Amino acid sequence: MNVTFPCPTCGRIATAQASLAADWQCPACDHRMRLMATEPLIPTCGVCGNHELYKQKDFPHWLGMTILVVALVLSTVTYYSYEKWWSWAFLIGSAFIDGIMYLMVGDVIVCYRCNAHYRGAAPTQAHLPFEITLAERYRQEKIRQERLKSEKP
Ligand SMILES: [Zn+2]
Ligand SMILES: [Zn+2]
Repeated sequence: MNVTFPCPTCGRIATAQASLAADWQCPACDHRMRLMATEPLIPTCGVCGNHELYKQKDFPHWLGMTILVVALVLSTVTYYSYEKWWSWAFLIGSAFIDGIMYLMVGDVIVCYRCNAHYRGAAPTQAHLPFEITLAERYRQEKIRQERLKSEKP
């Protein structure tokens, strides 16, 4: 299992093994921190220690959108050339492909607080789907912290 996370200081995306506790140093800004072992169940985030994580499909959003846009263009073209059957075939076909890909890709577990992504782990009952109210709470918390930081002389 590995974890991908943004460096808390400079925001650069880093990847590390999540199976063992290790000292980590950012190659860009030399920020150091201790990564905790999270295997196998990921009860808490190994990067920031937060206990609220959510699961989502590891399906890149842009790919789904690309398939949809291509299908829409193809179906519009065929619609105006009076090949209506092809229009329907492209639309239904793209929905079908999206569905298959959705089933094939695995889950990724994401930390609400630091946005670390854990891949290669099976989600447990503790990992619920994304909830906007929780995400909003963490977003507010981050804004507050950044405000405090900038108010310091
Ligand atoms: Zn950094
Ligand atoms: Zn975290």
